[in-house]
Amino acid sequence: MICTREHDCSLARQIGMTAALRVWQSFYCDGMYGRCERFKLLAAGGAVPDRLMPNGRLLDLPEGPTADASRPVQAA
Ligand code: SF4
Repeated sequence: MICTREHDCSLARQIGMTAALRVWQSFYCDGMYGRCERFKLLAAGGAVPDRLMPNGRLLDLPEGPTADASRPVQAA
């Protein structure tokens, strides 16, 4: 089953590489979306950080060390 939040989700805009996007989509969006941290926040009516990946980590920013991708973001 495909994710019911697909139209509310900005993941595709955040991932520039088509191949990388397809990996995320095949693992989460096309099947186990209930485990996606973005889905959980959307379903709860919360704001979803653009940098939040489905696994709960934040996408690294090219600017440098301020990005903290090592800590998962806790769902509300
Ligand atoms: S990233 Fe998560 S919320 Fe967004 S479409 Fe995929 S499964 Fe749904």
